[in-house]
Amino acid sequence: MTQARTVTLIRGDGIGPEVADAVVAILAAAGAPLSFEEVVVGREAEKRDGDPLPPSALEAIRRTRVALKGPVGTPIGKGFQSVNVRLRQALALYANLRPVKNVPSVESRFQGVDLVVVRENTEDLYSGLEHVVVPGVVESLKIITEVASTRIARFAFDYARSNGRRRVTAVHKANIMKLSDGLFLDCFRKVAEDYPDIAADDRIVDALCMRLVMSPETFDVLLLENLYGDIVSDLAAGLVGGLGVVPGANLGKEAAIFEAVHGTAPDIAGQNVANPTALAMSAILMLRHLGLPGHADRVETALLSTLKAGIKTPDVGGTAGTREFAKAVSERLDG
Ligand code: NAD
Repeated sequence: MTQARTVTLIRGDGIGPEVADAVVAILAAAGAPLSFEEVVVGREAEKRDGDPLPPSALEAIRRTRVALKGPVGTPIGKGFQSVNVRLRQALALYANLRPVKNVPSVESRFQGVDLVVVRENTEDLYSGLEHVVVPGVVESLKIITEVASTRIARFAFDYARSNGRRRVTAVHKANIMKLSDGLFLDCFRKVAEDYPDIAADDRIVDALCMRLVMSPETFDVLLLENLYGDIVSDLAAGLVGGLGVVPGANLGKEAAIFEAVHGTAPDIAGQNVANPTALAMSAILMLRHLGLPGHADRVETALLSTLKAGIKTPDVGGTAGTREFAKAVSERLDG
């Protein structure tokens, strides 16, 4: 029997605990050899320890090297630095991977969408370097480095090569930010020379957004800086039915955190209506990362067959609750 692999579990805030419980139940039904070790991060940790990201939680992820994470809320315009940004920076999770694909029986404006957003996860305007120059004037620093830009470009091409992808498109605004986005683009072009088997091109971010909402099926792998990546991944989620169906992975050399693109969804928290599909798909990415492709395939087949049978949560046009949906997926695994 395969020895169980310890995985850190962060259930998170808002709908986090509901979708995390649903996904843990599905993984158990699939017989995935995983042993979850829960750490408390977010609102509850802030109340208890005075810090939404206690050092013990970081230590736990450093030790297990893999975490499954529900969303964690961040105060807007005030308060502590985002837990998500802190986690990504502290663990050097430099690559954010978000595959965006149509899901069976989920209606969307487009069919045939199958693209992957690769987002640089550690710098750009997310460096959190802001200050008041004089009252009424604020400066936010956008940091772009050759090291991080080269590293993420290499990640995108390696991912493309090992996943049968044909093209990587770098997205930028180098016509205006000639130095910062110019450096990002230069690094991309240099790295592209080492991958003659993968097509490489680039688009200005505004033009890309227009193209994405007109013909998303023409894109393959998109490579973006942190902020553009954040915005474009939500846009891309909207093309295939919304945030309930788009997974994500934050990857680095030392650790990996698997989480959905969506946030805590405070408008529907505690109502048993949140869609656990996005976190379940993130867990499928995790199973593959852990070298458990058989379990990944089983969970994926059960998930897709549940959706095909029209069992869906309200965000994608169904009537099933979070728990009922998870039960339906689990039953398909048992069978
Ligand atoms: P959100 O993603 O939480 O919600 C946007 C909309 O999508 C809402 O209408 C919500 O109901 C819906 N939605 C999201 N996930 C869903 C799901 N699984 N099932 C059904 N509907 C779903 O975005 P927001 O409201 O802008 O952010 C809320 C909080 O989440 C903020 O504090 C933000 O900082 C945080 N956040 C955290 C993460 C993370 O932890 N990785 C990511 C994004 C936002």
